Amino acid sequence: MKAVVYAEKGKFEIREKPKPSVIDATDAIVRVTTASICTSDLHIRAGAVPRAVPGITVGHEFVGVVEEVGRGVSRFSVGDRVAVNVETFCGHCFYCRHGWVNNCTDPAGGWAMGCRIDGCQTEYVRVPFADNGLTPIPAHVSDEKALFTGDLLSTGYWAADIGEVSEGDVVAIIGAGPTGICTAMCVRMRKPSKIVMIDVQRERLEFAESHGLADVTALVPDEDPEEVLRSLTYGRGADVVMEVAGGKDTFQTAWRIARPNAVVVVVAMYEEPQMLPLPDMYGKNLVFKTGGVDASHCQDIMDMIASGDIDPSVLVTHRFDFDHIMDAYELFAEHRDGVMKVAVKVSEP
Ligand SMILES: [Zn+2]
Ligand SMILES: [Zn+2]
Repeated sequence: MKAVVYAEKGKFEIREKPKPSVIDATDAIVRVTTASICTSDLHIRAGAVPRAVPGITVGHEFVGVVEEVGRGVSRFSVGDRVAVNVETFCGHCFYCRHGWVNNCTDPAGGWAMGCRIDGCQTEYVRVPFADNGLTPIPAHVSDEKALFTGDLLSTGYWAADIGEVSEGDVVAIIGAGPTGICTAMCVRMRKPSKIVMIDVQRERLEFAESHGLADVTALVPDEDPEEVLRSLTYGRGADVVMEVAGGKDTFQTAWRIARPNAVVVVVAMYEEPQMLPLPDMYGKNLVFKTGGVDASHCQDIMDMIASGDIDPSVLVTHRFDFDHIMDAYELFAEHRDGVMKVAVKVSEP
């Protein structure tokens, strides 16, 4: 089968690989039907993820059909349509028992797929701990609606959760890209009074607004997010801040626009260390929470999709078949043509 492989720093290539088979009793083999490309894939290609293993099949956002199960898999059978979690986790170590699956201590635990073990930009994938890492897709939910359950939406769900967003809050989200949009979808479910989206790209803010995911926007640098937030909150600032952008000065924006005693969630991955100017923020009594998603609520997310409360398929702006996946990479990496997310069709559901 053909697979997109991390050849070396700066280079992905298509290689022929053998179809995987069950190794451990808790494994499932999933036939990929639709896959996507994540910014983390680009980080791997750039050589910015030191634990990524050269020769590995990349990709960790996908849905498919169960092709084979080990004898220890009890929740799934051959033929089931499934969304696959970005994280593999054992379900019984100290961290898993707390729901902190990102830090699962199993050698294959945490974000392994498409990084340390073979991922999804291919035809078949071996999924360890299948009972924990797969989520059934109801018949009326399309591949494209289910595609972001295990990674992007899990991130948004986790951010809204640890941000302790409550009804009536004014929530600021810095970064209106795909992760910011998924965060806004999950924040919206908690009935905030306002979602304020902040970005440097007008099109992304318009996208958020047109899908009902931004009540107010701040286009930087034309508008000052701090002023926008103060004008909405009797001068206080945001009740919760989600820093999703990871830009040059977005961490500074994040704590500045927060009101005293706010929770600031840092979802973003930075390329450089950040300054925490404690003397400047003294007396603001902020709570910072930082990421790596714990993708442990996929069933709740699938329920939100199945009931029509959220429709993440709006993120799919471009579609490709697997033979053109390298074109998809180019488009996605270069942010061409208003791309938000690509859907790569690998086989029939
Ligand atoms: Zn990802
Ligand atoms: Zn574990």
